[in-house]
Order: sequence, then structure tokens, then C-alpha cells
Amino acid sequence: MHNVVLVFIDGIGIGPRDQRSNPLACFSGKVLRFFRDEDVELPEHGMCVPTDACLGVQGVPQSATGQTTLFTGINAAAEVGRHVQAYPSGQLRQLISSQSIFRTLMNKHFRVTFANAYTPRYFEKRPRWISATTQMCESAGVQLRTMEELGSGTALFMDFTNRILQNLGFDIPLNSPVQAAEILVNLGRDHDLCLYEFFLTDLVGHRGTLEEAVTLLREVDEFLAAVVARMSSGSLIVTSDHGNIEDMSHGLHTMNPVPTLLWGSIQKAFPSPHQPMSLVDIAPRIEDHLDGHRKRA
Ligand SMILES: [Zn+2]
Repeated sequence: MHNVVLVFIDGIGIGPRDQRSNPLACFSGKVLRFFRDEDVELPEHGMCVPTDACLGVQGVPQSATGQTTLFTGINAAAEVGRHVQAYPSGQLRQLISSQSIFRTLMNKHFRVTFANAYTPRYFEKRPRWISATTQMCESAGVQLRTMEELGSGTALFMDFTNRILQNLGFDIPLNSPVQAAEILVNLGRDHDLCLYEFFLTDLVGHRGTLEEAVTLLREVDEFLAAVVARMSSGSLIVTSDHGNIEDMSHGLHTMNPVPTLLWGSIQKAFPSPHQPMSLVDIAPRIEDHLDGHRKRA
């Protein structure tokens, strides 16, 4: 199988192994076990390629430009001359609409999906500012998943446990990290590219405590380890847009490289862990990987 599952985790970088600031140093993760200047050993022959998120542009990397770069393969920070925070502005939205990996793959009739479910509120009153991923889906014609799909086990909420939804009063059962992983892997099997976005890491990195970061990352680690264990075929990529939660000594993003974790045959499309790579390199490699398999099929 050639299918690719892409898990995008907002705001996680590779920092030093320091228990006072880096929550990843406070527990023994199965997947989230990358530290500066250390070789990484991942389960199931996974590979970690440190990935530059600063993109040759002065200042601390931010979400809108980082995500646009990640999902288009174009250096969006260089295009607009700075790192842009939070939601993509007009120029970035245009880049996403015309050049996103969803758009390119949909044009080539690959099966593409976004695993995240949206609440009814989103459809009733579409917010003025939308995320890079939402912009990518809407412009490429990739259907947004709903609470109905969440209920039938064919979508995940941005909090894959559904805890936040239950607290909001939704009648949705809780997922264990393992159950959430099963949903994602099943969805991945039916698509050439399946993307899942998780951004609580960035929120906790901005506003949380070290203890809250450890609690959250333990759960994310359990989820990712279960995805890795269940990816019997196909490829898995886990990556981020910029550092943040790996340094809880302050509430800001970091300039650390982000991890790009790779499992399966897509590893062959990437450089070795010691060769430099940046956020621009990910989308084109996913495309090459899928194109290559189609040619051989
Ligand atoms: Zn942030």
C-alpha cells in the first residue's frame, strides 16, 4: 500500500533534554523521544529528520506561514517577507488555494481527506478567520467532516479523546488514544493522503504549565504509538510547523527545528536524518511518493 497518513502537531520542536523546561524529558515517550544532539530511536524502524522551521526569515516562526509552507511546499515566510501568526492572511490564503498539496493531489484524482470533524457551529456561522487546513480543504473541494461522521467513527475531533466535546455538552463517547488511532488508521486505508491536525500542543505551549504539557504529551504519545503499531501498510508522517511546547520556560514559539517522523516506504523520498531539510521539503515529497506509486501501479 502506498497511502500516506500525515499527522500535523502544532507547536512541537526538538529541544534539549532538560527536565526543567522540556516536558518530553519528563517521561519516557515511545514516539515523542527526540532531543537536541541525540540520535533518535523510534519503534517500527521509524526515522526522525530534524526540519528547519525558521525558513531563512528573521524572527521566530509562526503558524500561518509555517503551515502554509508545510501544506504547499512554498516558502510562505519568504514570499510575504515575515513570519505571520495564527490564521493565514489574504496572500497566504491565495497560496494555499492555488498550490496546496490537497489541490495538487485532487487535480490528479488522488483520494484526499482531512480527518478532523467540525462542530455544527462552524457550518452555521463560518468564522471570518479560518485555519490553513480549513482553507486548504475548502479551496480544494475536500469535504469537511461533521459530528455525524465523528459519531460513526469516521472522523476525529481536534482533541482526539472527545473530552472537550463532552465538556461542551455533545453526546459523543470518549475515545481512548488507542481507539482514536484505530479511527485514523482506518480512514487512512481508504485514502491516498489522510491528514489529521492536532493543535492543543500549541495552546498548552503558550498558556499551560510544565505539568499540563507532560499530561497532554503522554496522551499524544500513546495515540501516536498506537497509530505506528497499527500502520501495517502505508506510510506515516508526523511533523509540526514550529517549536513551542518543548520549551515551557516561556510561553512563546521557539526557533528549534521540528521533528519530521517517518515510517514506511515514504522514508525513501526523504534525506537521511543528518542532511538539512526544512518545511518546504515535505509536501513535494509526499506528491513524489504518490506519483511514483501510481506510475508503478
Ligand atoms: Zn502558537
